[in-house]
Amino acid sequence: MDFSVDERGYYGKFGGAYIPEMLYPNVEELRQKYLDIIYEPSFQEELDELLRDYVGRPTPLYYAKRLSEKFNTKIYLKREDLAHTGAHKINNTVGQILLAKRLGKTRIIAETGAGQHGVATATVCALAGLECIVYMGQIDTERQKPNVARMKLLGAKVIPVTSGSQTLKDATNEAIRDWISNPEDTHYIIGSVVGPHPYPDMVARFQAVISAEVRQQLLYKEGTEFPTYVVACVGGGSNAAGAFYHYLNEPAVNLVAVEAAGHGVNSGLSAATSVLGSLGIIHGSKTLLMQTEDGQIVEPHSISAGLDYPGIGPMHAHLYDSGRAKFYAITDEEAMQGVVLCSRMEGIIPAIESAHAIAALHYMQLKPDDIVVLNLSGRGDKDLQTIINYLDEQDGK
Ligand SMILES: *Cc1c(COP(=O)(O)O)cnc(C)c1O
Repeated sequence: MDFSVDERGYYGKFGGAYIPEMLYPNVEELRQKYLDIIYEPSFQEELDELLRDYVGRPTPLYYAKRLSEKFNTKIYLKREDLAHTGAHKINNTVGQILLAKRLGKTRIIAETGAGQHGVATATVCALAGLECIVYMGQIDTERQKPNVARMKLLGAKVIPVTSGSQTLKDATNEAIRDWISNPEDTHYIIGSVVGPHPYPDMVARFQAVISAEVRQQLLYKEGTEFPTYVVACVGGGSNAAGAFYHYLNEPAVNLVAVEAAGHGVNSGLSAATSVLGSLGIIHGSKTLLMQTEDGQIVEPHSISAGLDYPGIGPMHAHLYDSGRAKFYAITDEEAMQGVVLCSRMEGIIPAIESAHAIAALHYMQLKPDDIVVLNLSGRGDKDLQTIINYLDEQDGK
């Protein structure tokens, strides 16, 4: 079985481009040009230089000695937390800003929920000197004030969206409306492996630098490019797509995707899309999503803002459906214990998103000779207040 995207933008029965007629020219322009542009030698050269000197790549592959001892196996952390702006998201936005320039665009729009993708987009717009407009639900702008301040400092215009539930999906609708009205000069930077084709494939290719580096780094450290397991958390799925990419068609490498169970898979407050989802269309893509019987999107819940998404990208829906990847669902509480574990045993404070992947290690039957590569998607600085509140509550119990 092939796990790459096909020509029409499908992974198995998932993917495609289900978009309003008015958006067709924009998406079609991108579809026709993206591969030619990103594999042009001058593009690759410019991208490589930025990834090295601006983002700080390659990020280290760190042998986590104390965690390895605890789990009686070999655990390597891929340190995306050390990338500029503190997470993997910059790999994609750097790629897309170069693409936007090649397409002759002068204006960038993005949607953001927690603000992490908004910050990564505002960052590369400052880098490239392009106008940046970020749509964000009104409620999210209140919940995520520091990221709103960061985006503004970086020169972006943050537009609070007051329609609907005033969160991510409403911000996405506004961004799409903007793109329809400004097809000539505007590029829409989507932040994960979601949305209509070619976005999932394009974002996966930009994030694939993660597994390209892991193969080289592991060869140097272990004498093999192939770990036993690659583990990553999944919100929309971009960090996992990047960590899996160069192993998709290597069946000896076990792929492990970790979703957010929130208060528990069956609690009604969860974001475990693979288990709870069914086939439907979200953000222009046919994939698994959490929905009611009549197709209304169910509000997801996770303590980590980055995993709080009601769908998963079509690549991951296919990895789930075909059994190529094993999926785990980790609760808020287990994830917070993962934060504490990684902090105390390795001196690395992980993002709560990434801590879901750490917590999944408890459920895996790991053997001493196994090699586990865990993608540490981001650092925990942004989560400090949530972490402090959680620990205070624990102390009070
Ligand atoms: C946004 C984010 C995620 C979730 O997004 P994916 O597209 O699933 O990778 C995970 N970890 C961190 C640190 C994030 O900022």
